[in-house]
Amino acid sequence: MPDATVGLVVVSHSRVLARAAVALAMEMVHDGSVRVAVAAGLDESTFGTDAVAIKDAIEEVDGPAGVVVLMDLGSAVLSAELALDLLSDPAARDRVLLSAAPLVEGLVVAAVTAAGGASRDQVAAEARSALLGKASGLGESPEDAAPSSQVAAAEARGTFVVSNVHGLHARPAARLVVELRSVDADVWLRNLDTGAAPVPGSSLSRVATLGALAGHTVEVTASGPQASEAVRRVLALAERQFDEVAEPPVTAVVTTAGPLPASPGVAIGPARRLTRPPLADDIDHVVLSPDDERRRLLEGVEIVRRDTEAVRTSAARQLGSAEAAIFDAHLLLLSDPDLLGEVHRGVDSGLSAVSAWRSAVSGVEAEWAALPDDYLRARAADVRAVGDDVLRALLGAASATLSGVGVLVAVDLTPAETASLDPALVAGIVLAEGSPSSHAAILARAGGVPAVVNAGRTILDVAEGTILALNGTTGEVVVDPSPEVLDAFRALAGRQAATRTRDLAEADRPAVTLDGTRIEVGANIGSPADAAAAFAAGADSSGLVRTEFLFLNRDKAPTLDEQHAIYNAIAAAMGGRRIALRTLDVGGDKPLPYLPTPKEDNPFLGLRGLRLSLQDPSLFVEQLTAICLTARTSPVSVMFPMVSRVDELTQAVALLREAAGQRGLPVDLRVGIMVEVPAAALKVSTFLPHVDFFSIGTNDLTQYALAAERGNAGVAGLYDALDPGVLSLIAQTCVAAEGRALVSVCGESGSDPLAVPLLVGLGVRELSVAPAAVPQVKAQVRTLDVDLCRSLAAKALVAKDSAAVRALVAESLPTSRA
Ligand code: PEP
Ligand code: MG
Repeated sequence: MPDATVGLVVVSHSRVLARAAVALAMEMVHDGSVRVAVAAGLDESTFGTDAVAIKDAIEEVDGPAGVVVLMDLGSAVLSAELALDLLSDPAARDRVLLSAAPLVEGLVVAAVTAAGGASRDQVAAEARSALLGKASGLGESPEDAAPSSQVAAAEARGTFVVSNVHGLHARPAARLVVELRSVDADVWLRNLDTGAAPVPGSSLSRVATLGALAGHTVEVTASGPQASEAVRRVLALAERQFDEVAEPPVTAVVTTAGPLPASPGVAIGPARRLTRPPLADDIDHVVLSPDDERRRLLEGVEIVRRDTEAVRTSAARQLGSAEAAIFDAHLLLLSDPDLLGEVHRGVDSGLSAVSAWRSAVSGVEAEWAALPDDYLRARAADVRAVGDDVLRALLGAASATLSGVGVLVAVDLTPAETASLDPALVAGIVLAEGSPSSHAAILARAGGVPAVVNAGRTILDVAEGTILALNGTTGEVVVDPSPEVLDAFRALAGRQAATRTRDLAEADRPAVTLDGTRIEVGANIGSPADAAAAFAAGADSSGLVRTEFLFLNRDKAPTLDEQHAIYNAIAAAMGGRRIALRTLDVGGDKPLPYLPTPKEDNPFLGLRGLRLSLQDPSLFVEQLTAICLTARTSPVSVMFPMVSRVDELTQAVALLREAAGQRGLPVDLRVGIMVEVPAAALKVSTFLPHVDFFSIGTNDLTQYALAAERGNAGVAGLYDALDPGVLSLIAQTCVAAEGRALVSVCGESGSDPLAVPLLVGLGVRELSVAPAAVPQVKAQVRTLDVDLCRSLAAKALVAKDSAAVRALVAESLPTSRA
């Protein structure tokens, strides 16, 4: 084939679509003298675009006459831009032109023009005007070609009224953009109340600037193969308020409960603040060639993307995906076609990556800051945070730092800030706001940093450098302590440090009580890395593998092979110790984009856990198959979350048998349920014939028993697993299961030193806790006598409230564990 003609590349999310478009174009080119390569779909039937495949396609048709690339929607453009940076011969880049022409019309015109021997620019120009014929046929003026023509020529349209209290701000906008990523359609949104120009649904930065406030009407138009589906999905999302979980009002964090213990341990040190060093200018930086600056940009964005994903995953693991959703907005900004397009244009015009990024981001930030609504305006902070992170990566600058070694005092901390604190520098944390079940508290516990939350705004008046002493086990905070108080805190801290070192040295030994009762101490994990940490901390097993972390943060479910591989990797990292794989625990409060659930007013009481799995057995059976495959080579237990009735369990077990197939259930596969629903705790005998074990999820059991949402700071004072009512549910579970099935606890209370003696006394024989807590829990078990624990538990069951229970147990403990 002659290479004097311009080569064409068709980039599409759908291979079928691309091939059909090429066939249509070839109909018009009778002698077949045009070279066209296709880079479309991830395989024959999976939608998506792949920068490497696009690069290969470009190189296949590249020649002296150059190449014109035609693309369909959203990420096709992004992938094509990336492909240019991947070309083996950097000089080839100048021969390639990415065309904004509509794919089908543009390809037909481009093929005909190229076959006629036109130059690359002529081919591109013809392709670009390919819509004009259709537009004028419909009576539109040529300058209406885009985007108004796209809106006018839409194949599907609809309107919705924004009902989110804060309008279509970053988080709902991010939810919308993610939803549309899996739909093959070109979607535009227009705020009918402001009359502003339409914006593409693929761009977070543009959607958030619609200025769509509560009560505004937004028009959605779509064209493309899945136009109607796209509009249907947007309207359904709007109906569900974009899956936004209502935030507690700001005043709710100011409870009357006073300072609350959030992460155990003693800390003494000067009060410190978290500061972000100002970003230096890029003045001294030599501007490299546009290619090199583009590469620099890609690297910087990639570093931040990786960091953000890591923080998002850990936040999702610790807090649930609703809390982690803010990071989705950050990730979307990092791949926002509009924002990146602007930066690329800046680099092409000779700016450094730093200057181009700075100017594009401040443009977006300024647009958001100019929005009429206070709450939306405040979201400009998200843009600034992401923008600064990338600038820091580009300039190799340090991220947020403590003003010094000591006790960090802040209003509250974001998960990202908490996750990035260095425990070597932060002796402890005192927050004016927040709750013990907040993201900051959970991450502080995971990192072993003592913390007290909800200390009140006056703590913010403490001058930098003032000595603070805090006890994260009791919630005590002393500002500028007297020498006597300081000595007492120091002595306690010294004892605790010595205890930690001793506990770790003994962690590999089993935990056996003074009277010879073995209590298995396992770890709660969500990844092979967690499993390795659990093994190193001496965990006897994993009593809870939160498998949902494999399913979160992605556009489609992991395949059977992916699941099998990761479960095997977890089993291997646990060194052959048993792992309890909990089936998918998502739904209502933690929606997955590929598992749509209806809007629910009370998602915690809705389609969660096993309820959702039974609604969509195909995904469930696939997970059960992966679990059975893993159980053929490693000791595995399977555990079903959020069970309320025995028929749910029998259905799940039937599906487990179906998944196991002809070979039947693996011999050593143990089956159990989580006890999280109070009614399940009261009906244990009905489940007994079908299970080997019960694992009490005290995090959920507590919130359901006390009707106090686990993450809601406003009811943090009510939420306590040591409430006698919750203890009574645990007691009833143990009594009914005694001698017939093992009872384990995998909620946070399993590592609460004041809860451990009670749980053992009530009959719990396995505790599964955060990996870092394993040595301390094992050591505490070794100090217990089961009979004494039983009598303590009997008293706790009739105590007046959780405070009385805590006082009762604290009196009975050696001081080093209080
Ligand atoms: C629980 O509810 O106690 C539990 C361990 O499950 P999760 O925290 O994952 O909901
Ligand atoms: Mg739970």
